[in-house]
Order: sequence, then C-alpha cells, then structure tokens
Amino acid sequence: MPVINRIAGLAPEMKAWRRHLHAHPELGFDCHATAAFVVERLRAAGVDEIHEGLATSGVVALIRGREPGPVIGLRADMDALPMDEDTGAAHASTVPGRMHACGHDGHTTMLLGAATYLAETRNFAGTVALIFQPAEENGGGGQVMVAEGVMDRFDIGRVYALHTLPGLPVGHFQTTPGPILAAVDDFRIDITGRGGHAAMPQESRDPIIAACALVQALQTIVSRNADPREDLVLSVTQVHAGSADNVIPATAVVRGTLRTFLPGMRAMARARMEAVILGTALAHGVEAGLTFIEGYPPTVNDPAETAFAAEVAAGIAPTNPEGMRDMGAEDFAFMLEARPGAYLYIGNGDTPGVHNPGFDFDDEAALYGASFFATLAERALPLG
Ligand SMILES: [Zn+2]
Ligand SMILES: [Zn+2]
Repeated sequence: MPVINRIAGLAPEMKAWRRHLHAHPELGFDCHATAAFVVERLRAAGVDEIHEGLATSGVVALIRGREPGPVIGLRADMDALPMDEDTGAAHASTVPGRMHACGHDGHTTMLLGAATYLAETRNFAGTVALIFQPAEENGGGGQVMVAEGVMDRFDIGRVYALHTLPGLPVGHFQTTPGPILAAVDDFRIDITGRGGHAAMPQESRDPIIAACALVQALQTIVSRNADPREDLVLSVTQVHAGSADNVIPATAVVRGTLRTFLPGMRAMARARMEAVILGTALAHGVEAGLTFIEGYPPTVNDPAETAFAAEVAAGIAPTNPEGMRDMGAEDFAFMLEARPGAYLYIGNGDTPGVHNPGFDFDDEAALYGASFFATLAERALPLG
C-alpha cells in the first residue's frame, strides 16, 4: 500500500501549510506563531482535545478512536535555525537570519496531515497524542516537555518520530534498532598552576605542560579504554593559555566534545576523563577542574518498536530497517528515554544536506510521512 488515498487528496493543502511554515520560521522555544497555525489546523481537523503552552509554545492534541485502548504519541518538531536561506524558492524565509533548514516545517506538516486523516476516520482503538514541540535544535524542548510530565499527563505508552534525510529517495524510510544518534557532552577543563618568569621555570607550576600532557592522555581513553567495537569520539577543540613570550601563565583552559552512542560508553568515558585529569594534574603539580556541558543523550530505538515501525513503513515505501547511525544528536532522545518507541528517517531525495542554506523539504515526502503516521496509529491500536 503506498500513500493513503485521502492523504494524497490533501496534497495541495499540505503543500500550502508546509510552504507557509517555511516562509515564517521561528527559533527555539519561541514558536508561538507556528503553534497558533498548528492549533488552527487541528481545530479544523476536529481533534478532541488541544493543550497549548507545553514547554512554552508546544502543543499536544488528542484524537480518540472508535474504541477505548492505549495511547501512542506521534511527535513533530516546529523550530527553525538561526541562518540565512539561499534556496531562491518562492516560499523562502521572510525573516532574515532564520530558516527552516532542518525540515521541521515538513515534520509539522506531516503530522497535521495524519491528524486530519485520523480525526476523520478514527479506525483505531485508543488515543493518538500528537506532540508538536519547540526547541529541538537548541534548548531541548522535548526534554522540557518530558520534565513537565507530558508522558504521564496524557498516559502515552509509546512514541514515534520521523526526520527528513537528504540522500535517501523521496518518501523512502530508514531506521535502525538500538542507538541511532549520539549523545553530546561538551567539556571544559580549567587548569590552575603558578605563573612566573619563563626563564625561571623551577619557580612555576606550568599549566601549559599539563594541558599538553592532558590532550595526549585523554586520547588513550579512546585507544585503550573503549571497546574497539563501539563508537567513541573525544575531540579536544580548544586550548587557551598565555599572553607573553617570557611569561609562564598561571592558568590554561582545554575544551572539547565527547560523542557516544551507548550509555555505558558515555559513563565510562566521563569517569576515565575525571581520573586522567586528576592524575595528570597531580603529576604536574597543578589543579584541574572538569565541567561537562551536557547535551542530548543518545537517541536509542527500542528494537521491537523499531521492527514494528519499519514493517509499517515498508508497507508504504521501500524501507531499510537496519540503516546507518550517525554522530549527530536529537532531542527526541528524551522521549525515547521516557517511553519505548522508534525514530525513523524519511527520504528527501538528492538535495543539499540539512543545516545547509540550500536545503528545502520535499513536499511529496510529506504525503509518505503522513501516511506512515496514520497507518502506524491504526496498526498500533487495532480495532477489536
Ligand atoms: Zn537540525
Ligand atoms: Zn532536525
């Protein structure tokens, strides 16, 4: 079964919605106009309940099926990126310095299309919770929604999301069980020694020597502590110290980023960093403090839910159920920490990549995405 007929019939409206959203991008938690547009469409669709103001500008809508049953969550993100658009499209961003370069305009449109179909047909037993979140790109709107209790409040048992993927044919699907996107931990190491005259090093505690030793030693976590069959990236990206050729500075700062897929690997790497920093500081007679700036956790697909979602997707378009994972990150990780579910990619064809000024979501892909969400709901909540 390809695209659902009724959803194919919504193509002109969905294209207009998507292009309106594309032309009016909003950033972070401030997705108020987008949320108002979403609410307007949900009202027109005839959903049963609309809840606004979650995580500032998020929206949750409920659609009840013909029979009672469990609740599943379908999530779309609404925010854009702080960059200038260079697509030359007629529907290009009307706001300088803002652009829907990650396809969230398409994600929102797909879920609105599915909502329209599901509210009309209601061929399922249970409730579909449509989750429209702000601040996926930065700020963790999904994390805030989970912290606010969105899963318990609406009794959501399972969650699913789609993300556009340039390079995959339009409307095709790809996912993978287990970790699909990485955890991000940025770090900062503050080294404090004792400054002094460069000609009298014996009277100093040189933080630069300690910083250099530390950069080298940290790499042994990747080469000697990590299971070589699992992914770990530890990149030192900044080293700052000193201001004169003849002065040993008192302090140095080392910064970088840690990327992992598995929670155990992340915990191991963080614990080893603490130990390596402590030991290196001791060896060089300096003090060193480590600060993690926690980003998103790994996005981990539940194997059973991923197999189920991939089977649904395969009924709509060619689907790769064991595709590549990558070292990017995604706020949906928090929802997958709270509930089992699956994150899938939907092909955008041979286009520039996401976060590229030339990227534009393919309107045809939205029909496949909406069909996926609608079919997933009917299959996850079958009528008795
Ligand atoms: Zn993005
Ligand atoms: Zn995105």
